[in-house]
Amino acid sequence: MTVTVDGTVYGTYPLSEDRTLTVDTGRGANTLRIEGGRVWISEADCPNRDCVEKGAISSTGQIILCLPHKLSVTITSREGGGPDAISY
Ligand SMILES: [Zn+2]
Repeated sequence: MTVTVDGTVYGTYPLSEDRTLTVDTGRGANTLRIEGGRVWISEADCPNRDCVEKGAISSTGQIILCLPHKLSVTITSREGGGPDAISY
């Protein structure tokens, strides 16, 4: 998955490795949790916390936005760990 801040790529992280990641956006901080092939925002100091309420995403193309912090989390390709394989 790829994290962007204000349209700039902040970093790319595999969903196959569990980790907790704190992103300082310059407007505030978002804590991302990657676990079991899914990612969610576990903590944020934005005013509406929509990004936290969004919950976990795990499929390619899904996105979490934190508008107050101009942060986005996008699952950019199949990165392993998910049972969402395309069946023929
Ligand atoms: Zn937010």
